Amino acid sequence: MNLVVKKYGGTSVASIAKISKIAENLIDEYNSKKKLVVVLSAMGNSTDKLVNLSSRVSKNPNTRDFDMLLSSGEQVSVSLLSMILNERGIAAKSYTGWQAGIKTNIDYSNARILSIDTKRIKADLKKGFVVVVAGFQGINNRGDITTLGRGGSDTTAVALAAALKAQECQIYTDVDGVYTTDPRVCAKAKRIDVLTYEEMLEMAGLGSRVLQLRSVEFASKYNVPLRVLHAHNSNNIGTLIKKEEKNMEGALISGIAFTKDESEIIIKGVKDQPGVASKILGPIGDANIEVDMIVQNVGSDGLADFTFTVSRNSLNKAVKVIEKHKKIMGYQNIESKRNIVKVSLVGVGMRSHAGIASKMFKCLAKNKVNIRMISTSEIKISVVIDQKNLEIAVKALHNEFKLDKKKNRA
Ligand code: ASP
Ligand code: MG
Repeated sequence: MNLVVKKYGGTSVASIAKISKIAENLIDEYNSKKKLVVVLSAMGNSTDKLVNLSSRVSKNPNTRDFDMLLSSGEQVSVSLLSMILNERGIAAKSYTGWQAGIKTNIDYSNARILSIDTKRIKADLKKGFVVVVAGFQGINNRGDITTLGRGGSDTTAVALAAALKAQECQIYTDVDGVYTTDPRVCAKAKRIDVLTYEEMLEMAGLGSRVLQLRSVEFASKYNVPLRVLHAHNSNNIGTLIKKEEKNMEGALISGIAFTKDESEIIIKGVKDQPGVASKILGPIGDANIEVDMIVQNVGSDGLADFTFTVSRNSLNKAVKVIEKHKKIMGYQNIESKRNIVKVSLVGVGMRSHAGIASKMFKCLAKNKVNIRMISTSEIKISVVIDQKNLEIAVKALHNEFKLDKKKNRA
């Protein structure tokens, strides 16, 4: 089937004028004989407004009611788009999540899609309808409405594309694709034509939040080609995210991601003996604090320094946990540092090319950027540096790896 699933985010449907503009684009595609399934988010920040309404009546609303409330935003946008299309002579039908057959597990507010019964949608597509589905929602086996976690409409779209075996899932947003790095930090940042799922997961997980992470995992699992595009610039090709293919090694490095909300804890003078790491990280994990990078350096006299990073907003909590467990952890003193950032080079080409790390470190040294910690994976090298060096580092690396001149891979 010549089917495309298109998803439009909140800012792209923030007003009637914007929804009408989307309708125009859809009509053009419909007239070119495409079958269309359209997934929408709620208008503008209306989901936030719903959250706010609930907080005015209850500090701790039951999750069933909460999902009932939050899911209502998407019903507004889908019904309006369908009305506009019908008004212009295009047969369209709006669907809630459950009408679209989207079944989820029981977890209100953060439900996972288990299956989609596509019978009804398929029948309507066959009859020539444009099918407009409310994103971010489904139904559980109690027959209750569930929501998929904030930003969940991306996942609705990808799941529908997988279930309907669509050619492509197109995510329309307010940027025209995924960039080699954040253009606000490095003006030479360029839109990337093609990325692999793995690279996108690293870029998204590391701070370039264009797509809900879960939707990329879903797309990867079911091999759904995903395209991120600008909602209101026509003729843009955006960024295509797909499975890795042999010819994709052309570009060594795809992008530079960074996260600013990091902090570092150094536990000094712990015993260099088995069990120390678990004695330290156990209580931290029990307190639900996520640890990212970990380094242990062995000093003299059988003592070591144990350093790790946590997100900045859990720093105080982590320090308290460590102080509370001083006896068990058996350290001399702790230091913490708030103003650090993590900068990462990402690219599947790294797998087959040695020397990327040394090139990266040389470049940082040349620019007098001190590296505090390093970690690597198959397709990523991350360094922790002082926040004041973020812009210098990102710009220098962008130049060093010629990301502004990169020949885009096919
Ligand atoms: N409207 C929901 C939210 O704001 C879902 C979405 O936009 O994808 O989180
Ligand atoms: Mg939204």
